[in-house]
Amino acid sequence: MAEPFETLITVADMRAHGADAVSASCWRCNRFWRSPIFALPPETTLAKVQALMKCHDCGNDRVHVTPVWPNGEPGLQ
Ligand SMILES: [Zn+2]
Repeated sequence: MAEPFETLITVADMRAHGADAVSASCWRCNRFWRSPIFALPPETTLAKVQALMKCHDCGNDRVHVTPVWPNGEPGLQ
């Protein structure tokens, strides 16, 4: 499963592999949006990014976040 990699990856890792944004989706209302990551500290993990996210439509803070890979998922360990 990709889950450990997905949550432990850092902003620095994402940027190293070409991602400059994450896609987020709200568990409650299914709103889907993109958020740039350039303003975040490089050591910020994806789990932390997810914890900081909040849905602007319904205010829900249970948001699922995945990196946006411009060239497909790099498949790191
Ligand atoms: Zn929502």
